[in-house]
Amino acid sequence: MALSPEQKAQLAEQKKQCVFCKVITREIQTQVVFEDRMVEAILDVYPVTKGHTLFFPKEHYPILMYYEPQEITPFYGLIPQMVKSIKGATISTGVTLFVASGGAAGQQMPHFVTHIIPREPGDGFLNFLFKPRVELTVAVQEQMMRVFPAAMKQYFAGMGDGAFPEKGTRSTWVEDRVRGSLVLFEDSELIVCAVGKGICMGHVEVYSKIEQKFIEKLSASQAIHFFSICAYVSSVLFSVLQPQGTNFILKSGHSDDNKDGFLCMHIIARKQGDGLQGLVWNPEQPKYDLAGMGGKIKDAMWNVKYVAPATPRKVEEKVVEKVGDAKGGNSNTIGEGSTLKVALGEKSTGNEIDDAVRRLWGK
Ligand SMILES: [Zn+2]
Repeated sequence: MALSPEQKAQLAEQKKQCVFCKVITREIQTQVVFEDRMVEAILDVYPVTKGHTLFFPKEHYPILMYYEPQEITPFYGLIPQMVKSIKGATISTGVTLFVASGGAAGQQMPHFVTHIIPREPGDGFLNFLFKPRVELTVAVQEQMMRVFPAAMKQYFAGMGDGAFPEKGTRSTWVEDRVRGSLVLFEDSELIVCAVGKGICMGHVEVYSKIEQKFIEKLSASQAIHFFSICAYVSSVLFSVLQPQGTNFILKSGHSDDNKDGFLCMHIIARKQGDGLQGLVWNPEQPKYDLAGMGGKIKDAMWNVKYVAPATPRKVEEKVVEKVGDAKGGNSNTIGEGSTLKVALGEKSTGNEIDDAVRRLWGK
């Protein structure tokens, strides 16, 4: 997104204090298991399971919304390989990816980071054992049905060829998973739906239609598409539900909180006092030799390398201006938040991202 001089100054200040940025410059010493030009991975010093890894882009931004597509694409594209190596080193049956955006969602450091948590049945980590308790109201359903089709069209209008993707077909297992849910978007690779009863209002699930269980089986291109859509869907949800934060929880493979092992991204809108504080764990000292595990995972990363897909799906940065022009106005709009306003047929203020960020940090 385009940053104002004030935002740039604020980020520069934040960066000076940032623990992750100090890890990148080696001002803080820790167990680095992977590094290239764009990204870095370290062992979490307070792991919830053996091999719990923190994976982050080197560019300092507090939340996903700030990253330009070219800054975040290599990060998404590397996730399958990272997971494969970590699972291999820890001999795990599953993995959970976790992201907290905003204080209300349990974010502690202002640097976007994804937790890669290796999982196996009986590992004792039960924070993500979901108990569905909130029904999707008719009002929110209607709002989603009004906003999503237009918002998704906006998204694809910004892709290289501008084509809106075909829905593709659904295999039986996909059909089974989405029964009773409100389908918000579908193409040949994935399906996005709001569940009838979730752990929060507007609990959204994203399933891969290509791979039933294992995130590590997606190609770089498929992973980039999957995570880009998840990030975009979360920003659309922001406009619908006005939360104070979001959690991404991706479950893949077998664990006690994912008995059938299905690959599913859960997007959870968070508010202060929403009763979901239990998703975030308390830091505890490792019960295993961190350095030994670090060495093992690092060794397993020997062939991890980002190779840009041959025909990358390119999201143009100036989508919004185009859309604004087509509608005859909105020349001062910026970023995705404004796109959503245009999609909603409302007058854009150009401040939606600012507003979202303020909500995230409770300012
Ligand atoms: Zn940082």
